[in-house]
Amino acid sequence: YFNEKSVVFLNGEFVKATDAKINMYSQSLHYGNGVFEGIRSYKTENGTRIFKSYEHYKRLKYGVDVMGIQFKYSEEELTEITYKLLELNNLQDAYIRPLVFTGENMGLTTSPETNLVIQCWEWGKFMGDKLLRVKTSRFQRPNPNSCFVEAKITGHYVNSILSTNEVKSQGYDEALLLDMNGNVAECSGANIFMEKDGKLYTPPRGHIMAGITRATVINLCKEEGIPVEEKHFTLDELKTADACFFTGTAAEVVGLESIDEYKFPMDWKTSHGHNLMKLYKAEVLEERVQEKAL
Ligand code: PMP
Repeated sequence: YFNEKSVVFLNGEFVKATDAKINMYSQSLHYGNGVFEGIRSYKTENGTRIFKSYEHYKRLKYGVDVMGIQFKYSEEELTEITYKLLELNNLQDAYIRPLVFTGENMGLTTSPETNLVIQCWEWGKFMGDKLLRVKTSRFQRPNPNSCFVEAKITGHYVNSILSTNEVKSQGYDEALLLDMNGNVAECSGANIFMEKDGKLYTPPRGHIMAGITRATVINLCKEEGIPVEEKHFTLDELKTADACFFTGTAAEVVGLESIDEYKFPMDWKTSHGHNLMKLYKAEVLEERVQEKAL
């Protein structure tokens, strides 16, 4: 993720990653009270573009807010800092990781001291390009009555790590998690869509991360006249679907080969998901804007 030349933004300054120091008595390190984001920038014909920067930083600020963490930066300031950071690291196609973490405190109320680090690095498609073999995890998504499921709190990701460890140790690529009611929720780090009889379905908000890629894909469907509905479905229903895909900033749009041992019967290349994968790529590269303007 970094080398001797990498620069990070830490508490108001651009510093070498190898020189950056954090306090090991930080409450975030001990109890997971931190908030992060995962953002991508792309090299477009108009230069480097951070995709949906405002939306990502708005979600970061929501997380900070629900955890009662003091935080003074606006979405605009954070975006400006991030562009500068990309420039200092000589990166255009990059993955950007802002992390807000609290200071020294072993108590269980939020520390009044806040730290912000922003890191970036080159990262290929997080889940690769090949169709994924997915397994349902024995772990459920966190209960919305026990945490804020739409906030990207560091501690919530223990659930993602448990489920991914579980299914990877059994030879699968990724984990699917159900919600507390037994409905399909999402992958450990991406949202899910299924295609059935020419229509797409994705679980509604409530037990899932309100993915920015998910929202972008729903919007692309509306623009392209692809029918899509936000609706709960069960694992049994998923196992009658024609095709299926995941969406996420790091993963982008990636197709599934199978869930448990059910193989999706449709040829991926003829599915809505494959079309949306191409449309999403054009959107992040700002090629669709130009098409629309022509
Ligand atoms: N679900 C979870 C649990 C995630 O961690 C992510 C990544 N933030 C997503 C879905 C996808 O969200 P986004 O499209 O905003 O990256």
